[in-house]
Amino acid sequence: MQYAYFGGKIVPFEQAKVSVMTHALNYGTGIFEGIRAYYNPATKQLNVLFLKEHFRRLLSNSKMMFMKIDETLEQLCDITVELLRKENYSEDVYIRPLLYKSTSKIGISLKGVEDAITIFAAPMGDYLDTTKGIRVTVSSWRRIEDNAGPARAKMTGTYVGPALAKTEAIMNGYDEALVLTEAGHVCEGSAENLFIVRDKVVYTPPVYENILEGVTRKAIIALLQDELKLTVVERPIDRTELYICDEIFLTGTGAQVSSVAEVDHRVVGNGSIGPITAQLSKLYFDAVRGNNPKYQAWLTRI
Ligand code: PMP
Repeated sequence: MQYAYFGGKIVPFEQAKVSVMTHALNYGTGIFEGIRAYYNPATKQLNVLFLKEHFRRLLSNSKMMFMKIDETLEQLCDITVELLRKENYSEDVYIRPLLYKSTSKIGISLKGVEDAITIFAAPMGDYLDTTKGIRVTVSSWRRIEDNAGPARAKMTGTYVGPALAKTEAIMNGYDEALVLTEAGHVCEGSAENLFIVRDKVVYTPPVYENILEGVTRKAIIALLQDELKLTVVERPIDRTELYICDEIFLTGTGAQVSSVAEVDHRVVGNGSIGPITAQLSKLYFDAVRGNNPKYQAWLTRI
């Protein structure tokens, strides 16, 4: 990682620094994105996945926080392409745009505070194991309610909850945490959306269950419906459904499609990657690696 977009231009990475008084650092007033770029060794091509969709989510969520920046959606996409061309990676990459309250001033008000955006990109392989099922646990930490802090925005401050949940799960010997809503329904993973399969029907929590409205979730629902001709139902999910369902998988930019083999010591299905998850996973990885012409529109060439 040699460069970052900072202060309106691409600069050497070491120059991308903020003051300790920065509003976002003190109060958690940043909104970030996580975007993947996939390198195809056969074609020597790096492709960014859902570039525009991620910046669109970032900009629309920024309204909640009274954020305003000079860069337009198109410019943010162009800057990211330019940054990646300069970095010249020949491996999979994770791109992190961070829009934040940049003023150095004490006081929490969001008004009259300047905003800034930085973008950087670092190499990244699998975030969760995608080759075999992972072991997860229901966390003792709950998902933040929308009225306590915007759950549907990737707000830096509200990631304290997922950070506590993930840490607890790892320290207790699991790969990942599943969090419940305050009402006790299944919400999502610490950084992934969740799907379960029961009798060949796929269920996922709806947007009013305090989930992050995942870019991957939307694409996965389309693949399940259009390619696998399955019914996808968005409805609240009970905790005990996790223990009796046929398949569970987690989706996200980082997690991709990750199969769950075990929840709280209960084996899911027969403990290996289930048939629907396996088919979905193949479709997803073919599309993101640029091996399915039908889904070229998901990708931006670098
Ligand atoms: N939920 C949470 C809490 C997340 O951090 C993420 C990762 N961004 C997701 C779900 C999945 O979202 P996406 O598919 O947009 O990466």
